[in-house]
Amino acid sequence: MIEMKDVFKKYPNGVTAANGINVYIGQGEFVYVVGPSGAGKSTFIKMMYREEKATKGDITVNGVNLTTLKNTKVPIFRRNIGVVFQDFKLLNSISVYDNVAFALEVIEEQPNVIRKRVLETLDLVGLKHKARMLPTELSGGEQQRVSIARSIVNSPKVVIADEPTGNLDPDTSWEIMKIFEEINIRGTTIVMATHNKDIVNSIKHRVIAIEGGKIARDQQKGDYGYES
Ligand code: ADP
Ligand code: ADP
Repeated sequence: MIEMKDVFKKYPNGVTAANGINVYIGQGEFVYVVGPSGAGKSTFIKMMYREEKATKGDITVNGVNLTTLKNTKVPIFRRNIGVVFQDFKLLNSISVYDNVAFALEVIEEQPNVIRKRVLETLDLVGLKHKARMLPTELSGGEQQRVSIARSIVNSPKVVIADEPTGNLDPDTSWEIMKIFEEINIRGTTIVMATHNKDIVNSIKHRVIAIEGGKIARDQQKGDYGYES
């Protein structure tokens, strides 16, 4: 479902952030991506949703070859990928409901289908009662739950998360992890870059460690493996 073959990424400034990556991630897996700052974790996951293009090698996600995918086809490709960011990236001038509905509105889903899906999804993340509020009226943890709801409302096959608990306190981080677990149990592949040692060492999943743009370690039910 996600495959990289001999993937390299060299930024225009000359930095090589991916330096020969080969990996296969199957449907339904939960994968943590760990490693020191600047190791290439973000680049690795950004290439999975074509936020960055590989300079060499082949990447296939959900059967789509991202090497040959035209820029105009990227939005259609992304409909099957949910993305969650450390800083949420919600639209602060519209309601929680509308933030989640947005992805369904752009694909012109029927209004009754949109309403049902949005409320079901907000219910899954425990925020149905806050549907009318603005994101800025919510706590950080609640905002991250909205962003997760937005990422899954389309029922994507894959959810990619870049340090989703990076701005949250420990208790809130555990709450957010429960939601990712639930999404994964329902069959969605999760790829999550994280610096959260306690979570990685407690909720065991595959661990891919990136160092210097290469996969330094790839372990089923792995450990975080760094001091912090
Ligand atoms: P990580 O997520 O592990 O911190 P990144 O993938 O963000 O690592 O960065 C890997 C390397 O690529 C770093 O040296 C970083 O400075 C560089 N880098 C990341 N994004 C860009 C960019 N847009 N342009 C130039 N260099 C970049
Ligand atoms: P239920 O009937 O299952 O209790 P509701 O239809 O009352 O669910 O909706 C639950 C929450 O979602 C309420 O806060 C409601 O105001 C809000 N909501 C429902 N539809 C919309 C909408 N189109 N825009 C904004 N908020 C909405």
